[in-house]
Amino acid sequence: MLNLTKQMIELKNILASMDYSETLRLPAIVVIGSQSSGKSSVLEAIVGQEFLPKGSNMVTRRPIELTLVNTPSAAAEVADFPALKMFNITDFKQVQNVLFDLNKAVPEYECISDDPIQITIRSPRVPDLSLVDLPGYIQVEAADQPMELKQKIRDLCKKYLDPPNIILAISAADVDLANSAALRASKIADPSGDRTIGVITKVDLVEPEKAKGILTNRKYPLKLGYVGVITKAPSAGKNSSLFSRRPINSHQAFVAQQNFESSYFKESRDSFTGTTTGTKNLKRKLIKVLEKSMATALRPTHLAIQQELEETSYQFKVEFNDRPLTPQMYLANNIDLLKLATKELSNNFSRRELRAILKNELDQRVLDLLAERYWNKPFKLNGETVIEPDLKELANLNNMDGDVYWHRKLDLSSNSLTKLGVGRLSTNLVTNALVMEIGNLVDNTQLRNHPMAKRAVQEAAKSVLSAKYYSTADQVENCIKPYKYEIEIEDREWQLSRENSICLLKEEMRQCEEVYNDLKKQVGGRKLNQVVTYLEKLHQQNTSEVDLNSNEALGFSSNLIKKGQDAIFLRDRLSLLKMRHQFLKSSKKCKKKENKYQCPEVYLDVVSSKLTSTAILFLNVELLSDFYYNFPRELDKKFFDTLSNEEIELFAKEDPKIKKHIELQERKDLLEAALNKIEGVVAIQRSKLNRLNED
Ligand code: GDP
Repeated sequence: MLNLTKQMIELKNILASMDYSETLRLPAIVVIGSQSSGKSSVLEAIVGQEFLPKGSNMVTRRPIELTLVNTPSAAAEVADFPALKMFNITDFKQVQNVLFDLNKAVPEYECISDDPIQITIRSPRVPDLSLVDLPGYIQVEAADQPMELKQKIRDLCKKYLDPPNIILAISAADVDLANSAALRASKIADPSGDRTIGVITKVDLVEPEKAKGILTNRKYPLKLGYVGVITKAPSAGKNSSLFSRRPINSHQAFVAQQNFESSYFKESRDSFTGTTTGTKNLKRKLIKVLEKSMATALRPTHLAIQQELEETSYQFKVEFNDRPLTPQMYLANNIDLLKLATKELSNNFSRRELRAILKNELDQRVLDLLAERYWNKPFKLNGETVIEPDLKELANLNNMDGDVYWHRKLDLSSNSLTKLGVGRLSTNLVTNALVMEIGNLVDNTQLRNHPMAKRAVQEAAKSVLSAKYYSTADQVENCIKPYKYEIEIEDREWQLSRENSICLLKEEMRQCEEVYNDLKKQVGGRKLNQVVTYLEKLHQQNTSEVDLNSNEALGFSSNLIKKGQDAIFLRDRLSLLKMRHQFLKSSKKCKKKENKYQCPEVYLDVVSSKLTSTAILFLNVELLSDFYYNFPRELDKKFFDTLSNEEIELFAKEDPKIKKHIELQERKDLLEAALNKIEGVVAIQRSKLNRLNED
């Protein structure tokens, strides 16, 4: 059987999460009444639970949109606050507290807010109803209220009291109806009284005859009529024949109220003939009236959904070319792109590139060693000048066999290289290079617009690399160990290193020249010459120490003296490099590995090449291949296994363009679901009508 209201409430829930036009509004029952009229008691009697916040100062400040869903399978009343993602609350004290806090969130000076609180209560005992509890403001609107507040109240009122909503106007039997704020307000919104149900509370407080007079009201006739109720049982003692014991819990209180109400109306049955009384009848009436207005709303709602969907689909096509997108799809696309780029990287950044990085670093170390041990000038040791054997002498020596000095020098240099910690150094270099490469890849995807994701990718790369860091560094160090004791050289290796060191020296010369020229430009050629000549003269006089702080040195500033010293250093270094370059390039001696003591540049290059090749062998397998295998898995773990759907949505919506795309897609999906739903309802409704016609 079709329960129209239930279906329409489900439809309303589908539409609830999106903004929609007024035409898509589904009917609800709006409850209004002045303070103490018994409004809360009526709502609670319908629900069968005490759930509304109480207190003299604490009036409802926000509309409460209350959806009741008849759920035969539920054990008792269960409440959800969908917007707060709070579900299955069975403790109605908690519901009361949440409602209290949500209302309190509106500052006192604002008095009311039109931002509704949504709450759904499911129970086998409630009917399917859609109710709205409006702030008890109607009676509060006073002459001294500021104009904008009055306007605010009117706007809120208009929004909820306008068709297709039904107005439940609550008035107490013990107050003159002429003073009923609820009826006054409903008369403005529904002058012909078509959509208003009058509820007269506290019937027990007046004589039955008087109550009947109110219920058969001719002064304020309403087409949907009046219902008389007693929604609060008198406390024990007052009516001890009916209540021998005080009810213990909220549910028992409602059973007591129902018992009292039905006994009361049964006892005075004759007085109430021709009227509608009792909470049960009120509920029935509400179900019937809402169902009827839902049926009336069916066709316009159907049309409105169709139209909204058409507009949304058109916008989706124009703006996003019908390309589907969800937060999950967006994330998956981007991670896939990153994985693909990583795969590509594994082709472009492999052994060869690693080799270049490490060799480059070791070349630099070799140059530093050469500079320190071979290309240096006389230096002072304990105040005495120690003159290094001239490198020119080295080039001209014919028999090196017995020269302990040069042998020791080369051995020490080679040792410095093999013992500099190649394991750590190379692992560090590769790790940093990979993290940088991954950073570049991220910058080529849309992930660059998501700082959080960018960080997560970097962390994924680092965690994969750091898992292998120490073992790789140790293994590399182990593998290069033999070179710390002995280095065997093949002719081919020697030749390659010779070529390489010639290139290195050439580059070193170029850089040296560049710095020298910069210096010249800074100081001016003539000035530099003057200070250099001055310093050389001093040197010849064997007073190599210049007091940089004294200004008397021919008027040269200490800064200029320093520049002059730099210039001399660069000039000497350059001439030395030229000499060595020439020697390596043209001397026959350098073509033979046996002359290694005379060609330390070539020999040290052989060592650094060997260290590089051996280190790379392990780095490639232990670090690089492992990274390319594990990094994509780490990405999956970081992004798909740990992030919740809400986090993925938050992430995707960080990018405003993507946010718009996803939201339009969501809107389209929701409208499609809504259209499906309403078309189903329309079809069932139609076949029901057809059957009725046939009968
Ligand atoms: P609200 O301020 O309009 O929400 O009114 P309440 O539901 O809080 O009721 C105001 C007072 O009237 C409370 O003390 C209730 O116990 C009392 N009350 C409500 N309904 C009835 C009723 O049907 N009969 C009697 N005797 N008292 C009622």
